[in-house]
Amino acid sequence: MRKKVALSACLAGKNCRYNGERKGNPEVVAHLEKEGYEIIEFCPEDTCFGTPREAMDLVRTDEGIKALTKFSKTDRTLPVVEYAENFFSRHPDIDFFVGKARSPSCGVATALLYDEEGNLLSDTEAGIMAAEALARGIEAADDEKLLKFNKNS
Ligand code: SF4
Repeated sequence: MRKKVALSACLAGKNCRYNGERKGNPEVVAHLEKEGYEIIEFCPEDTCFGTPREAMDLVRTDEGIKALTKFSKTDRTLPVVEYAENFFSRHPDIDFFVGKARSPSCGVATALLYDEEGNLLSDTEAGIMAAEALARGIEAADDEKLLKFNKNS
């Protein structure tokens, strides 16, 4: 049976980013295909909130880390958590997770975390969907790191 990789759909070329812009990473797709992976695409934000949509940030609050929209400060944490749980329940045999670097949903070790005043606290966080993958023990990488690692190895 082929190995399965969960891949941020925007990296596969789907125009699901918050502003509808296309920002695929064909090098990553080609690398995963060469490695023999079956690619399973996902996009929690497009599914839950549609495209285009207000961008969101990870914010440390008194109630823990939340995904809040940039300007209206709407809490979008729960739908993304539920999407992630459902996705991995539907695909219990995912071997690898590749997320879009710096995304509050998909970044693996590059998501940005702010305080409630908008000050940057960290740029090495896991986004909400990536955190669920890591909690399930799935190996995971940001797209940019995956390519850098393979170029250097
Ligand atoms: S980074 Fe994740 S949530 Fe954002 S557009 Fe890509 S797949 Fe969707």
